[in-house]
Amino acid sequence: MSGDAGAAPAGAPPLDAVEIVTIGDELLLGFTIDTNAAHLARALGEAGIRVVRRTTCGDDAGEIAMAVRESIDRTGAVITTGGLGPTSDDNTKSGIAAIFGRAMRLDEGIWERLQEMWKGRGWPGQVPESNKLQAMIPDGATVLANRHGSAPGIWLEDERGRWVAMLPGVPREMKGMLADTLMPRILERAKRGGGAALVIRSRTVRTTAISESALHDLLADVRQSVHGLPLAFLPGWEGVDLRVTARGMPAAEADALLERAVLELRGRIGDPVYGEGADDLASVVIDALRARGWMVAVAESCTGGMLGMRITAVPGSSDVMLGGVIAYRNDVKVRDLNVPQPMLDAHGAVSEEVVRAMANGVRARTSAQVGVAITGVAGPGGGTPEKPVGTVWVCVETPAGAHATRVRTVGDRDEIRRRAAQGALNLVRRQLAR
Ligand code: AMP
Ligand code: MG
Repeated sequence: MSGDAGAAPAGAPPLDAVEIVTIGDELLLGFTIDTNAAHLARALGEAGIRVVRRTTCGDDAGEIAMAVRESIDRTGAVITTGGLGPTSDDNTKSGIAAIFGRAMRLDEGIWERLQEMWKGRGWPGQVPESNKLQAMIPDGATVLANRHGSAPGIWLEDERGRWVAMLPGVPREMKGMLADTLMPRILERAKRGGGAALVIRSRTVRTTAISESALHDLLADVRQSVHGLPLAFLPGWEGVDLRVTARGMPAAEADALLERAVLELRGRIGDPVYGEGADDLASVVIDALRARGWMVAVAESCTGGMLGMRITAVPGSSDVMLGGVIAYRNDVKVRDLNVPQPMLDAHGAVSEEVVRAMANGVRARTSAQVGVAITGVAGPGGGTPEKPVGTVWVCVETPAGAHATRVRTVGDRDEIRRRAAQGALNLVRRQLAR
């Protein structure tokens, strides 16, 4: 690294808010999802630094300058990602240099390092001239070392202490540089005289098989806040996540408040809560099976293996997972699961009778203690007035008996199938909790 060691100019206020500008035509076109902004926001939030606005702009130097200028004017602290490469669409440095009224110059240190990297990789000939663009930096800028790739980051600051940190677009490089170089610098600036560092922390309670509106009513008197913490309802196909967030307080205080809030939510909601944070319902179910020493086998029709995929996606699932049958067409239900043909004729493949027979059949076939079956109408075709698209039956048979239920699903084919697998896992969880 060259230049200053990262100290803020005298009189600059402590840092508490930043803006993020992500740069790249591919982001605007929707071909690349902006994971950089999400990662930055989470990492900064953990450190108690608020991200107050996110902007995305294209690769044009004028667009970059306009977006970054607005962010600097509002916040005085801006992190950009993207546009630091060696090609003509990499305009971040020149666009931002223009805002600060700085000229571009060749940094010999970066140029030498690029040449060494070229040789070190055993590539033939000289470094292409176009790589020189990566060695150009604005006058007075500080180079942020990048040991994860070729494009270094840049820190540019004016005499009032307003700054822009430019990071590469490649997510792996961006994350590495943030952790190595930029975060320590930012934390230095965020320090408040003597006081404890303030954080932003969240906890998430995961629920399934309960609607957002039912949860809303259940939590009527704590909806706005749980012990003073804001509560967010985040519905998805797996269920509704409830996230409580503590901000602007010391870590110990945040953790204590979050713990009380989570206990309160768990107590009020009860059974629909299956986990917290990144917990997946499949791993919750696997843990419950492991605790009993039971094996599971699956019989899947409309989900075509999704339930098996959910279970086997969890490392260590071979402790409890035997296998299963994808009985998509009726002849396989008959041949491999012993579902009686007259039962299929009388009730149809999507029925309580058939799902029970499927669970029983796969359990008998594999000698698993737990048999799980799914049959349903995933659509878009195939629905009838009695069995509309989204009609799904699931059944779990254990040594204690069989339990079948109709899962209410909505959405398109993909969503119906995902919800069906989730519903089956949830039925296993409930049966094992007895
Ligand atoms: P760049 O540094 O602009 O040349 O970006 C290099 C590559 O990083 C792009 O081709 C994208 O695949 C990826 N990338 C750039 N910006 C982002 C972003 N905000 N989120 C996720 N990936 C990104
Ligand atoms: Mg780019």
